[in-house]
Amino acid sequence: MKPQISNLKPQISKILLIYTGGTIGMNHNPQTGALEPFDFEHLLSRVPELTQFQTEIATYQFNPPIDSSDMSPKLWTELAHIIADHYEEYDGFVILHGTDTMAYTASALSFMLENLTKPVILTGSQLPIGQLRTDGKENLITSIEIAAARRQDGTAMVPEVGIYFNGHLMRGNRTTKQSADEFDAFESFNYPHLADAGVEITYHDEFILKPQTSNLKPQFRLDNNVIIFSLFPGIREDLIRHIIATPNLRAIVMRTFGSGNAPQSPWLLSALREGTRRGKVIINISQCLQGCVEMGRYDTGYQLQEAGVISGYDGTVEAAVTKLMYLQGKYDDPELVRKFMKQSICGEITV
Ligand code: ASP
Repeated sequence: MKPQISNLKPQISKILLIYTGGTIGMNHNPQTGALEPFDFEHLLSRVPELTQFQTEIATYQFNPPIDSSDMSPKLWTELAHIIADHYEEYDGFVILHGTDTMAYTASALSFMLENLTKPVILTGSQLPIGQLRTDGKENLITSIEIAAARRQDGTAMVPEVGIYFNGHLMRGNRTTKQSADEFDAFESFNYPHLADAGVEITYHDEFILKPQTSNLKPQFRLDNNVIIFSLFPGIREDLIRHIIATPNLRAIVMRTFGSGNAPQSPWLLSALREGTRRGKVIINISQCLQGCVEMGRYDTGYQLQEAGVISGYDGTVEAAVTKLMYLQGKYDDPELVRKFMKQSICGEITV
């Protein structure tokens, strides 16, 4: 698992560029016409600009590269290991990743890489890097620049997990994929951008995390006994009861209406109460992309709170589900999982 040091120009910062796959490195299969992951060397050969960096860039590639629809907790653990194993050698990390599940990976890593003080920037593209109108080059080049940026005292400008896409750097665990077609594929609906790239890269320092301690403490255990379900008018009792009765299921991310509301059907409240009684952690995340869950605002939300449902505040569904996996990997006691779900661990919710 040793990264190759490419013969790109030495200096100032050292960056590890990790290629997991995704459209950025894909090529059309001549038989099927579909896009398939391609070799990293091929990708790098399409970006001769990388040799102009005053930065030493080493590369590491997933073998084989994947479409991010195949991303998994196992691969998140592998990514966390790659970063932890090479943490002291590099000033920052750039992860090339498919856009489809990038927000999940960024969220998972933000929790797993406890006490992170170096940038971990995820990026990718909507068009392969070999295509004339690709957005991949700018995304890649600016991500490397951000990962290499340091303050005057030598510390990292962005000591956290971020997603850089189409001119914006966003906190990874606040980001959601919003478009399958536009170059502006991601948005952080409930938290300001950490930086915006125009002629210059403008960092919004007041929104960037300030690490308190410096020793990376990676957590590699994830427990994915969790499910996401969405409420809708007409949802059936037998199906919900079936989910809640699933023996090993430890947590549910329930996507509610508006500011965290649900139908007032007695069976739903009793099923949720039953879930809570069995030790299942139920998190309320709104189906709205923007805004915050406030269970006290309407009676329909208040009753959920009474049934033991926990507010997901203004967090994303990606952050909620990966935070649950991380907390469940760390704690057996559902009370501890509940306790930390109510707190911001690395800026994922505004409490
Ligand atoms: N299906 C691709 C992936 O997520 C889409 C992309 O990279 O934009 O790997």
